[in-house]
Amino acid sequence: MTETPLAQYVSLEESLSHNPSNKMTEEEHGQETSSWNGRSSEDLIHTAGLNSPVTHKLPTTNNPVGTVSQPLLQMSTPVMSPPKMGSPDPVHDLPQELLDAGWRRFWSRREGRPYFFNKLTNESLWELPQLEKVNSTQFDPITDPLGIQIQTPTTPQTPVFPPSQVPLLPQRAGEKRRASVAEETAVPNKRFILFGPWDLEIPTNVIIWDRTPSLLPPPHPEVEQFRASLVAKLRQQYKEMCHSREGIDAPKESFNRWLMERKVIDKGNDPLLPSNCQPEVSYTMYREIMNDIPIKLVRPKFSGDARKQLSKYAEASKKMIESRNASSESRKIVKWNSEDAFQWIRQTLNASYDDYLERLAHLRQQCQPHLVEAAKTSVEGICTKIYHMSCDYVKKIHEKHWAILNQHDIQEITSALQVNNPKKVFCYPVQFAISTPRLPGVDLLTDRDVTLLQFRGDVVRINTLYFQKLEQLYRWNCTDDRKFEYFLARVWCMLKRYQTFIGSSPNEGHSTQVALPVSVFDCLNKQFGVTFECFASPLNCYFRQYCSAFPDTDSFFGSRGHILKFYPVSGSFEANPPFCEELMEAVVGHFEKLLSESQEPLSFIVFLPEWRDPVPTSLARLESSRFKRKQLLIPAFEHEYRHGFQHLNVRGEISCRSSHGTVVVFLQNDAGFVRWGPTQEKVDHLLEMYKPGKDKEREHFLAPPRVQPQAPQTVVTNSQPQKPSPQIPVAKMHIVAAQPNPVFQQTEPTIAEHK
Ligand code: SAH
Repeated sequence: MTETPLAQYVSLEESLSHNPSNKMTEEEHGQETSSWNGRSSEDLIHTAGLNSPVTHKLPTTNNPVGTVSQPLLQMSTPVMSPPKMGSPDPVHDLPQELLDAGWRRFWSRREGRPYFFNKLTNESLWELPQLEKVNSTQFDPITDPLGIQIQTPTTPQTPVFPPSQVPLLPQRAGEKRRASVAEETAVPNKRFILFGPWDLEIPTNVIIWDRTPSLLPPPHPEVEQFRASLVAKLRQQYKEMCHSREGIDAPKESFNRWLMERKVIDKGNDPLLPSNCQPEVSYTMYREIMNDIPIKLVRPKFSGDARKQLSKYAEASKKMIESRNASSESRKIVKWNSEDAFQWIRQTLNASYDDYLERLAHLRQQCQPHLVEAAKTSVEGICTKIYHMSCDYVKKIHEKHWAILNQHDIQEITSALQVNNPKKVFCYPVQFAISTPRLPGVDLLTDRDVTLLQFRGDVVRINTLYFQKLEQLYRWNCTDDRKFEYFLARVWCMLKRYQTFIGSSPNEGHSTQVALPVSVFDCLNKQFGVTFECFASPLNCYFRQYCSAFPDTDSFFGSRGHILKFYPVSGSFEANPPFCEELMEAVVGHFEKLLSESQEPLSFIVFLPEWRDPVPTSLARLESSRFKRKQLLIPAFEHEYRHGFQHLNVRGEISCRSSHGTVVVFLQNDAGFVRWGPTQEKVDHLLEMYKPGKDKEREHFLAPPRVQPQAPQTVVTNSQPQKPSPQIPVAKMHIVAAQPNPVFQQTEPTIAEHK
């Protein structure tokens, strides 16, 4: 089978999990199933043929009146084949014993063939059911690509938390009681698997000490929009300051790395912008600006370029030292060396490429300390100013957020919460002490491959397959919105957050989001028991449990919060951090601490770029860790990553060859080594799965068919005028690295390239 009719089964599954009794009647099954937002078939106003739009009530949050044409999910919802004249009732045309066991026959319009549905167990099969078929959690992706022949075990695989383990939330007046986590995290009745570059069926093996709920205010589209505008303003102010004060372009992606570096130490209350950091001057930002002073050096292609660069550097150094408040000694040295370089250029005919590079390195070595001294105050001034602006913006965001929440009678909690009798529990998504107010409407526009969500004219985009993934994750992880009333608003906030975090220049920020290949994840799970990503987002996660940068927007989709605030005692982890030196260093220290404190099996398989010139502290610390059991090197160009914008790119533009080596280190305590130790056989398997092209092989068998672009299927009726899809660039395949203090930065500092 080459096609995977995933959408129809997503819908079916949803309808099952949203049906109050969790059972569907035969009529519901035969006619139409409910959509992603749990509306029942009664909501349908009009149903037409497969290719004509179908109208039903508008699936936007808090907007029960508008109409939309049928979204993709419903387009492919299974419907019963019309009974033929004279033929027996096809639904019940089955052996009596199957009918007694609850089986009925239905027609898959998309697949053009019948399938079988068990109304008692919610099971579904392509083939005529055999009564003796017994429980099996394995499935063969070739003969059963949907996994629809799996019988879900009757006992839930995901840990369900006894109410005693649920952190007690302060009771607030006028608030409805939240269903307990135990009730709400019960595994939904899953029958159908959404195929994509993930495996959301894998339950966690991670155990943590129970923790208090977060005091972060719940995300709200209005606040998120406001935050986005202030962050965009701050980015612009940073660019302008680099220009006006230092005469350089803001170093590429340095603002993004600044955001990540600040969050390692920030104690402020905004999930994105820093507001309580010591020291105030970010070393990352300072270093990156300084590195481009007096000019940004890029690796020249030819000797002519090298010559030009040498001359430009000498010129700029001289000019800079003359215009700054520098000591006379510094002026003398820089001027003398610049003149010397000019003279060398004039006199040395036929100099080679290497001669120029050598001369430039020499000149830089002589001048840089004096230039740094001369620029120090002004560069520190940029860092301080940006930080203070950030503090100011955080205050504004906080005020706006709480003004909205107060309007809904939701008050801030300032006293610390406590877990009474802390217990060890399977990890679960971050919970919130502050409840969500009624959220404003967000409109949905589905155009088969692409899904757009619009809040007050502000559109965010996501591939439809990933939108469906979010829906699955929400169902697995969200505990306060069974009816999916806030689903769209929360998806919008999360996408907006990542858009804001990533930046808006072409391809900006993609390097912070690149992921391991699916074949590697699969192997890590099967060979080393990995069930958890330490660094992920709802968009790039492979497992349904992971840590991420933004607990407030991401926890509804499974985030267990920041990795540095996550304290597991047991479990097997994969860690592929974004290339932010301070974060990588902090996380290696964090892992070492966790490993030294736990006697239970604990394992971290860490993936870092192989930077050697110089070796960053994080890598040095990782390689010399006393918990290291094994170290592998996956050579440059012999492996791939998944693109950081996999949720936006069209298929075929996903894998990028890595132009840097990747160091893989197994950090394990004794019990972790006994359980998940890297034996030669397992390691060989991992190396095999790392070979380029393995994901393509998998996709060949598993991928759903590529849907041809069409005119939009869903028309949003809203008072807001429609905006076209924002021009989020389809990314080129470059990954930008933050090598500490490189002499040269390439024009496009590329560490991985498009295959
Ligand atoms: N999950 C994929 C991709 C990792 S890319 C993999 O493991 O291969 C790194 C991810 O870490 C990004 O999505 C980034 O947003 C996230 N991240 C950034 N800071 C983080 C933090 N403090 N804790 C957890 N995740 C973080």
